[in-house]
Amino acid sequence: MLADRLATLQPSPTLAMQAKAKAMRAQGIDVISFGAGEPDFDTPRRIKDAAVRAIESGQTKYTEVGGIPELRAAVCQKLKRDLGLEYAPDEVTVSCGAKHTLYNIVMALVNPGDEVLIPSPFWVSYPEQVQLLGGVPVPVETSESTGFDLDPAAVRRAVTPKTKLLVLNSPGNPTGAMFSAAALRQVGELAVERNLWIVSDECYEALTYEGRHVSIASLSPEIKARTLVVNTCSKAYAMTGWRLGFAAGAKPIIKAMTDIQSQVTSNPTSITQWAAVEALAGPQDEIAKMVGEFDRRRRVIVGALNAMPGIRCVTPRGAFYVFPNVSGLFGKRWKGGVLKGSADVCAFLLDEARIATVAGVDFGSDAHIRLSYATGLETIKDGMSRMAVALRKLDG
Ligand code: PMP
Ligand code: GLU
Repeated sequence: MLADRLATLQPSPTLAMQAKAKAMRAQGIDVISFGAGEPDFDTPRRIKDAAVRAIESGQTKYTEVGGIPELRAAVCQKLKRDLGLEYAPDEVTVSCGAKHTLYNIVMALVNPGDEVLIPSPFWVSYPEQVQLLGGVPVPVETSESTGFDLDPAAVRRAVTPKTKLLVLNSPGNPTGAMFSAAALRQVGELAVERNLWIVSDECYEALTYEGRHVSIASLSPEIKARTLVVNTCSKAYAMTGWRLGFAAGAKPIIKAMTDIQSQVTSNPTSITQWAAVEALAGPQDEIAKMVGEFDRRRRVIVGALNAMPGIRCVTPRGAFYVFPNVSGLFGKRWKGGVLKGSADVCAFLLDEARIATVAGVDFGSDAHIRLSYATGLETIKDGMSRMAVALRKLDG
């Protein structure tokens, strides 16, 4: 009955884990969720007020498909302010969340059989979106020993005549890695040399704790010309439910993405767009407060994980995830079974410790699990002590 493209489609495991933890809590089960990839903070007041004003003043109709001029201007202003990048409003388009923006890009650029390089570990939706449209996702390993930095030599080895696109995500989900400027430069030059397009997913740009975010597009005009910079209001402004993502890059690609969107969703919600104008162009001081709080949590969770036997956790420099290596637990016994991979470890932690995490296998590494620390400090401490207690119950 279903189309062939559904044969390989996996529903988003991050959203599935979030839904599962919520459902368990609704049944009265005391689950601590480290699954959610969304800030626990509320959307700032000034942004909510802008949305209310939009409703009251009748901004409730269809808008330009690629976004109201005020929002595209605010995106240009933001990219100039934060990254020194110059774009014209017709080099910008907005969509229903960065997930939608990324899908429009794949739709606009990837032919069936085209290869898309994706540094691994990767965010779950990149390979799925490529595969859904007949492209071939090609994972490119990064190493835990370099803090999961981009490996230019590995990227070069993976390029073939069929390579069309390279998806970079820094700061990254799920590792929290920030790619070094040196690695980004080499990979950017490779893209120019081999005529590859670069997607630079900068959704976690604002959430950095050690060093500043570098956009690959800022490294040279030639690299910028081949890059689509993607960002969202979801993370920096705690607006996951509002659904607003955007891209900036070459005009013909931006136009193609907008044309696709004109036949699929039309504009993102008018009210959200006015809220996003306020988010991007208004005062930015809430971000520093959020980052300070995330940083405190980061230190606590990394410290707690590294103190547990069988667990080893690289300190992430950005985003709000930790990606501990749990392979030291493989082979241990629990309830008559043996822990063999990351999904077993997650099942064990949910059942025994009542903590929700996401299996690394979905992000390209079965040796790891992902925990989001976008949850209160006390909850994190509580969850970590539950985990430590549960680990003591493993045999072998
Ligand atoms: N990119 C990355 C790396 C993400 O983690 C997410 C998840 N929120 C997104 C894109 C999509 O974000 P949104 O659709 O909420 O803008
Ligand atoms: N990106 C977040 C995560 O990785 C939200 C869920 C999703 O969009 O997949 O958890």
